[in-house]
Amino acid sequence: MNISRRKLILSGGAICAAGIGASVLGPMFQREGRLVPGKPRYGFINGTEGPLPQSADAVIIGAGILGIMTAIDLTEKGLSVVIVEKGNIAGEQSSRFYGQLMTYKMEGETFMLHHLGKEHWRGMNKKIGVDTSYRTQGRVEVPMSDEDLQNVRTWIDDKKEQVSSSIPLNTRIIQGEEFKKRLKGATSNWTIAGFEEDSGSLDPEIAAVRMAEYAKKIGVKIYTNCAARGIEKQGGVVSDVVTEKSAIRTTRAVVCGGAWSRLFMQNLDVDLQTLPAYQSQQLITGGPGLPGANVALPGNIFFREQANGTYATSPRIEVIPIVKDSFI
Ligand SMILES: Cc1cc2nc3c(=O)[nH]c(=O)nc-3n(C[C@H](O)[C@H](O)[C@H](O)COP(=O)(O)OP(=O)(O)OC[C@H]3O[C@@H](n4cnc5c(N)ncnc54)[C@H](O)[C@@H]3O)c2cc1C
Repeated sequence: MNISRRKLILSGGAICAAGIGASVLGPMFQREGRLVPGKPRYGFINGTEGPLPQSADAVIIGAGILGIMTAIDLTEKGLSVVIVEKGNIAGEQSSRFYGQLMTYKMEGETFMLHHLGKEHWRGMNKKIGVDTSYRTQGRVEVPMSDEDLQNVRTWIDDKKEQVSSSIPLNTRIIQGEEFKKRLKGATSNWTIAGFEEDSGSLDPEIAAVRMAEYAKKIGVKIYTNCAARGIEKQGGVVSDVVTEKSAIRTTRAVVCGGAWSRLFMQNLDVDLQTLPAYQSQQLITGGPGLPGANVALPGNIFFREQANGTYATSPRIEVIPIVKDSFI
């Protein structure tokens, strides 16, 4: 396997910026002493041309995947929707995620959120008429230890009891021939794994681009290089979203600012707690015989085949700076 590209996750920088301030921003964020907007990893999408509209039924702040999906949803409900984006469409986290949708070992609301995510994306290609890259890929996780394996068995049993009357749980332990088939070519002593058959995958270079194109097609207006500065209220209700270009009259504002949301909300006296974190991952070319699945191996090794045969891989390094701002 040759490493063809190795990139620090830009969004990690964004999170860092939210957490510890501009003085430590890396070169990707600073050019000639100025902040520069994040760039999508792939598939630049033009924003809407022309001046901002004077009013809209809803204004969304941020054109990452969250802002785009919210805009689609509100437009389908009959609202006129404008997105204002300080940089580029999907220029931050939403073109850099690892891309797995899974419920494995998850609990409570996180389990439900990921379950609903899988359901939602499963019908997306048909709905928008293009390939978003979503597919049911299946995820194999080799347990780290006997104790880990026992925990997975217990989790499967408990989850079946809790949810299987309403949600089919497609997670099981695999070994023998099925293990060999799912983890093609594994030559170590591994013989057993947890397998989530209906786990899904989305490729970060593709999904947000396709969804943004669809949003524009159904009438969402997306203004790039247009930072929101604040939200104004009259008589206790939202009246305007003020941007660096002009204000838009609206009674609905949705903040989808990713790592920057906390800073934005702080100006409105809303305390949105976040934990800044960096994470790096790589994109590598494939290799003969690699499993076409999403795989987690002991030793913090993760890889997932993308739709074009490359692999997202994440010998995961996560850094969470403990700074004063983390606790504000
Ligand atoms: C390395 C990595 C791996 C990940 N892996 C997974 C995974 O496997 N599965 C999974 O489900 N999730 C994963 N995630 C999480 C997922 O990527 C994020 O939850 C998702 O992309 C967040 O989307 P968003 O739209 O909220 O934020 P973003 O994509 O960050 O978008 C926010 C946008 O708001 C804009 N903005 C901010 N402030 C303003 C303002 N004042 N005015 C105008 N615009 C503004 C920003 O410029 C940005 O474009 C991963 C994330 C990372 C970093």
